[in-house]
Formats: sequence, structure tokens, C-alpha cells
Amino acid sequence: MSSTSAPLLPNATIVDRSDLTESIACFRIRSDAAPVAFVPGQYVTVGLGVDERLVQRPYSIASSARRLDDGYELYVRLVPGGALTPHLFRTRPGERVVLRRPKGRFALRPVDDRTHLFVATGCGLAPFMSMLRTLDDDRAPRRVIVVHGVSYADELGYRSELERWAEDPGWALRYVPTVSRPGDPRNAGWTGWTGRAEAVLAALLAEPSFDPARTIAYVCGNPEMTVSADRLLRAAGLDDASVQKELYWPLAR
Ligand SMILES: Cc1cc2nc3c(=O)[nH]c(=O)nc-3n(C[C@H](O)[C@H](O)[C@H](O)COP(=O)(O)OP(=O)(O)OC[C@H]3O[C@@H](n4cnc5c(N)ncnc54)[C@H](O)[C@@H]3O)c2cc1C
Repeated sequence: MSSTSAPLLPNATIVDRSDLTESIACFRIRSDAAPVAFVPGQYVTVGLGVDERLVQRPYSIASSARRLDDGYELYVRLVPGGALTPHLFRTRPGERVVLRRPKGRFALRPVDDRTHLFVATGCGLAPFMSMLRTLDDDRAPRRVIVVHGVSYADELGYRSELERWAEDPGWALRYVPTVSRPGDPRNAGWTGWTGRAEAVLAALLAEPSFDPARTIAYVCGNPEMTVSADRLLRAAGLDDASVQKELYWPLAR
């Protein structure tokens, strides 16, 4: 995260935007220069001028690494009072932003035949969408379990895309969406998993089919969830190299 008075000029355009709820939206951003390749799981940094300062934040890329010409798709939550997102959510397609090249170590391994356990909260699903879309474009599906924790069912972004893969016999994908506030009227009619992502993860790790020696876990999103999930995965027998984590903001002290 950063804020600087350095006069960095906009070098990219928001070419598309679609809103899932009042506080969650997908932005597609295209660079003026030739698009830079990335490994699924990596992030770009987006900056906007706010009160004559450049405010920049990292965002995981949600789009396929094979579709660079379409621009980078980002899946973003509005953080009320935040330095960047209230301004980002006021933008419309055509507006200019500063975009820094993809980077990050949270990245899909090129070859891995273990079961991939993807655990996300909220917009932490973004890097997993990039991984899955890239594998889909490569026609190289892997065995995947996607746990997506949200407060409300209407925040289950990419739900239909994930459900389609879950039903596709060419994929071995199990989609496990869960809502953490089942009693809220906004979740009326929800009949799926309930509880926090880490509670659902604990239930999955207790299933007889779970084999730590044949599993790699990627965990992304809310820092409390990420740290709890990491503990559960270690206790279930996964080693250091088999748990990849991305924390979207620092853990509260
Ligand atoms: C590698 C990386 C990738 C990221 N990818 C994404 C992404 O794909 N989508 C996305 O929405 N965010 C993502 N983030 C978070 C993003 O960079 C910003 O932190 C977030 O958008 C808030 O920015 P802001 O300037 O509006 O708020 P800030 O002024 O930076 O934040 C104020 C406070 O809000 C809290 N906060 C930050 N993010 C959230 C959140 N999502 N929910 C609740 N509280 C929050 C933190 O405590 C923070 O200190 C990522 C972060 C990292 C480190």
C-alpha cells in the first residue's frame, strides 16, 4: 500500500466495470503499453490521484493469464473511509488510472497433480478465478476444491462460472460457498453451507477422502481467516511448502 506525491502519469484505462452489489465490483483495466504477462495468482497495483497525491493499492488479477489483450480484471470491495476504494468506486469506464506491472509470489505452480484446496473470503477469490480460468484456457483442469466465504449469498461473485465448472465432467472441481450470517434476512432462501470459511475448511479436512500428502492449499483474503486456515492446514498435516498464503491487509495486533 502506498500514497505518494510523485507525479506518476496515468498509463491505463478502465475499459469495463460491472457491479455485483453496492460494495463489490469488477473493473477491467487495460494498459496503454503492450500487456505484461503474469502468473495466475499475481497482483497489479492501481493508482488514482486523490487530492493531488497518488494513492496506490495492490489488486489480485482475476482474469486468465492467456487473455492479456482483454486487460486485467480486478474484483474489488469498497472499504468505507478507505484511501482508494471510495474513489475507485466513483470511476466509470473510460477513466484513466496508474497501473503498475504484475508481481507477487502467491502464484499457481506450473505443474502439480495434487488436489488444490483454494480457500478465500470475499474478494480473496480473485486470484483463484485467474488460476481456474487460465487452467481452463489451457485445457489443463486440476482437481480443485474452492471454499468461498462471504457474509451474504449475493456476495458470491463468479458463482455461476464456478457452478458450471463444478458440473462439468471435464473438471474435478468441488465448489463450497458458505455464508457466515445465515440468520440475516439478506440470506433468506440460502440452503447451502453456513459458517465462516475456516469452519467449513475444518469440516473438509475431517473428511475421510482428505489426504495431506496429496493436497496443496492456497489461502487468500481476510488476514484472520488466512492465519486460522493456515493453522488448521498445518494441524492436518500440510507442510510449509504446501500452504501458500496471501493476506489482503495486515493482521490486527
Ligand atoms: C497482494 C494484495 C492483493 C490484494 N487484492 C485485492 C483484491 O483483489 N480485491 C480487493 O478488494 N482488495 C485487495 N487487496 C486489498 C487492497 O489492496 C486494499 O487494501 C483495499 O482495497 C482497501 O484499500 P483502501 O485504500 O480503500 O483502504 P485503506 O485506507 O488502505 O484501508 C483502511 C483499512 O481497511 C481495512 N481493509 C482493507 N481491505 C479491506 C477489505 N477488503 N475488507 C475489509 N476491510 C479492509 C484494513 O484494516 C485497512 O487498514 C489486496 C491486498 C494485497 C496486499
